[in-house]
Amino acid sequence: MSEIAAYSADRSLKGKLRRRLVRLAERRPARRGPGRAMVSFSFDDAPATAVTEGRAALESHGLRGTYFVAAELSGRTGPMGLNAVREDLMQAAAAGHEIACHTYSHLDCGQADRATIEADVERNTAALSAWGAAPATTFAYPYGDVSLAAKQALGGRYALLRGLHHGLIEAGTDLNQAPAVGIEGPEGEVLVRDWIDRAVQRRAWLIVYTHDVVAAPSPFGCTPGTLSRLIDHALTRRAEIVTVAEGVLRLAG
Ligand SMILES: [Zn+2]
Repeated sequence: MSEIAAYSADRSLKGKLRRRLVRLAERRPARRGPGRAMVSFSFDDAPATAVTEGRAALESHGLRGTYFVAAELSGRTGPMGLNAVREDLMQAAAAGHEIACHTYSHLDCGQADRATIEADVERNTAALSAWGAAPATTFAYPYGDVSLAAKQALGGRYALLRGLHHGLIEAGTDLNQAPAVGIEGPEGEVLVRDWIDRAVQRRAWLIVYTHDVVAAPSPFGCTPGTLSRLIDHALTRRAEIVTVAEGVLRLAG
């Protein structure tokens, strides 16, 4: 399976309706909001530049991020460049960043049956454990694609499962299919800036995601400058920047 083919996942009307209908099922609503604005910066897959440049941007402010890793992609080159290898990610983990789960093969959880989803996630769990990573407490659905079977299979395994539909996390938000906003493409910076402002107004939690972080990014990534400006914006607006795992703990606490 090439990653390019993978990125043309189910964009049909049927796929969109399925994702929307599934948002009504197998819900696990957050009992409370964070009480203050929070922003998480996450990196899906994760390209090597997300580790080098992403870490540099966050760590210059003493902050940490979340890497949703699909272990089979590790060390492979795709449309977002070379993906990070074990050493990159374990060094990030040692520095306090979160290593989270994104399925082993970047499986489309909206299309696969329950047994296939469970086996693929199990395989990623084993691979990350063999790397020396702590057990992941959060998960991102590849392509943001979700089915009822996926929510049933995975809902109990993780404290939070992230999709790709836009929104904020506050009291009542489904933690089995949590929203996120992407820094992707030329409009990504303005879009995420606007969502940071909304999170501040509502004292809600925004999870941001991107992929590669490089001067000439793929359509799924952003530049180091964009990432830095968005981190600065969140800090200026006095949002707290936390990993996704830390954010869930705040909801519970
Ligand atoms: Zn992905």
